[in-house]
Amino acid sequence: SELGVRHISYEGDESEFEIDTSSSSIVRDPNKCIRCRRCETMCNDVQTVGVYSAVGRGFETVVKTAFDLPLSKTACTFCGQCIAVCPTGALTELDQVDKVWKALNDPNQFVVVQTAPAVRVALGEGFGLEPGTIVTGKMVAALRRLGFDRVFDTDFAADLTIMEEATELVHRIQHGGRLPLLTSCCPAWVKFFEHQFPDLLDIPSTCKSPHEMLGVLIKSYYAKTLGIDPKTITVVSVMPCVAKKYEAARPELSQGAETADVDIVITTRELARMIREASIHFDNLKEQEFDHPLGESTGASVIFGTTGGVLEAALRTAYEVLTGETLEKVEFEVLRGMDGLKEAVVPIAGRDYRAAVVHGLGNARTILEKIQAGESDYDVIEIMACPGGCIGGGGQPYHHGNLEI
Ligand code: SF4
Repeated sequence: SELGVRHISYEGDESEFEIDTSSSSIVRDPNKCIRCRRCETMCNDVQTVGVYSAVGRGFETVVKTAFDLPLSKTACTFCGQCIAVCPTGALTELDQVDKVWKALNDPNQFVVVQTAPAVRVALGEGFGLEPGTIVTGKMVAALRRLGFDRVFDTDFAADLTIMEEATELVHRIQHGGRLPLLTSCCPAWVKFFEHQFPDLLDIPSTCKSPHEMLGVLIKSYYAKTLGIDPKTITVVSVMPCVAKKYEAARPELSQGAETADVDIVITTRELARMIREASIHFDNLKEQEFDHPLGESTGASVIFGTTGGVLEAALRTAYEVLTGETLEKVEFEVLRGMDGLKEAVVPIAGRDYRAAVVHGLGNARTILEKIQAGESDYDVIEIMACPGGCIGGGGQPYHHGNLEI
């Protein structure tokens, strides 16, 4: 609320089920479950692992994890698609808005925010604008009003990811490394892969996701430039993604025990809430630009937010490195009979390279099983967990199951 009241406990509250706060991404409150089973349908749609299953307790039935395990102990990928369709708030993202307010109000912290490409396309929906309205300038202005010391663009690091992944692809091509190369910027997909296909762990790209790359840069290069101790910098990522909360908490994504690469991740929905809590009239804001130098980017990084964008950008770079010429466009074609899978053939220096783009983990499973069986002839594959890629991420404004929007 505008008064900063975020949690109210009512006297006499008789919660029957324990609230599951075990994961760093999703909170599950079975007491609010009305058994509509939309989460289960969505989970089966993305075919994570069928995490949710209805379990009876006396006369009550709620949707629960398999074997009633806490979420952190399951193979849930934390993509958050279940949250996007839950009508009652029985499933929500782990709210970290309080942590951001605390950092912003701490005079000893230099608070830097970065925003993913898919956020600027969806944030306006939280303020009644038409879906798809691009609100980059207003978003930057709102972030400055909220008190962030620097406003950077994850697109800067998306460009780095493109360069790194393309270099890795070129290296494998030139030195006979194992193909296909799989993109690695979607943490839900990475978690799915680690649980389900541990025997293929040598094929994904070794690149961190773009916001983690930018986090490292802010706490090393940029801290040095400003001459400040990285421990006094708080990096906040605004993402369309719920899984990125879990990703940022992974111990290997920190600079020793001292400081995490990214300290706090909030979703597009949480940012919209913060802007409302601060009583900022979003519509009336004058557009502003990102701070330099980590707010600059090329056009290639902007297409990261939608399915196929990462691969197209990486292929164009690999093409240029290998031939010295420019590849204008990669034409992907939908593979018949496989909704959610597109492919393209790109001739590079006398050899045809086969590329595939997959969204939805059910499709990812199909393609990975083919790789396992030696039946795949792809050289590079982009995989994103959410329908349509990050633009349809689990942290975007609620669509209540209407994927047409
Ligand atoms: Fe997050 Fe994008 Fe992956 Fe969805 S597709 S889990 S939004 S990185």
